[in-house]
Amino acid sequence: MIDNTPLFIVLPFVLLAFMLGIFIGRRKSENKSAPSPYTLSSDYFKGLNYLLNEQTDKAIDVFVGMLEVGEETVDTHISLGNLYRQRGEVEQAIKIHQNVIAKPSLSLSKRNDALYELARDFMNAGLLDRAENLFHELIQKQSHVPSALKFLLSIYQQEHDWENSILIAKKLEAATNISCSQQVAHFYCELALINYKSGHSTAALKQVKKALGTDKQSVRASILEGEINQNLGNCKAATRAYRRVEQQDPLMISEVLESLLQCYKELNNTKEIKTYLEHVLNKYAGITSILLYAQQIQQTSNDKSAALFIVNSLRKKPSIRGLNTLIDISLDFTKGTAHDNLLILQEITNKLLENKPVYHCTQCGFNSKTMYWHCPSCKSWSSIKPIQGIEGE
Ligand SMILES: [Zn+2]
Repeated sequence: MIDNTPLFIVLPFVLLAFMLGIFIGRRKSENKSAPSPYTLSSDYFKGLNYLLNEQTDKAIDVFVGMLEVGEETVDTHISLGNLYRQRGEVEQAIKIHQNVIAKPSLSLSKRNDALYELARDFMNAGLLDRAENLFHELIQKQSHVPSALKFLLSIYQQEHDWENSILIAKKLEAATNISCSQQVAHFYCELALINYKSGHSTAALKQVKKALGTDKQSVRASILEGEINQNLGNCKAATRAYRRVEQQDPLMISEVLESLLQCYKELNNTKEIKTYLEHVLNKYAGITSILLYAQQIQQTSNDKSAALFIVNSLRKKPSIRGLNTLIDISLDFTKGTAHDNLLILQEITNKLLENKPVYHCTQCGFNSKTMYWHCPSCKSWSSIKPIQGIEGE
């Protein structure tokens, strides 16, 4: 009922209905040569009443019925449909836009406008197949091309149809002159992942190469190339791929460090483990590299030296993860009250880390404990990065 409906929701419809009323009044006065140009029909008031009482179905029937769709009124009809879609009443929007399209006298351009809005209605209603057909029809007619391509790209991504996503992204790039290479590289990575998961590593590596050929800055392609090669036992190739990440995006080094060190270990190249870790430590000093270096000290020296290294690192760069590991190591060589106190501290740091997100979307602020290449919230690609600072990397 109107009492429960915020004014800002009803207002656009009332204004639109008012415009319709004036328009109809004008037309009637023109036809009958009546003195007043603003005569409103009783149907108009009936429709308005339905609208104010939230009986939108009946209101639409009245408005649509009282106003013939023609060149002069088509924009108003389309706008009314759009308002319903924005309000989430997609069925009403579809009804209005379909009513516009059904008029045979409509110009091609206005018909295409209505087709475009109807395709968007279908998309909002989750009728992706029908939306897809209409967007293709518009592209074929050279109407609303960039927008239709953008929506089609969104549909194919929702459907995980990566072949078509690549095809449409390339067309969109040509139509707008705006690069889609970052997205296309992700689509190739998605195809690579499907091949990799089904045991077709060679085909997967070919798709990874295409991803890097499209976007040489693709961190995801490098990580995937590293993983596939590591799994195949090609550790040398894997190290080359993992090390590329530093040049592509230093913020993502923490994602490959452990795998990279594992590869060097399998290659019995302990010298390179130390050299690379020291290089990363000196240049970026992320907590992952600090903890991995401490692990090396533990293995080659002892717990106390590793703890001392972490203490010195924490002085320069405080980190909850660092503190937690320091407590872990220190528990092994402390006794009595000191040991008990450390256990209490460990409980606190564990709780602090338990629900802390590790990754953060730089576009929309979405936080997560899992790494996503495609933000589940804002649908951006490559926008999620490891969180930096005391609670993160
Ligand atoms: Zn996001």
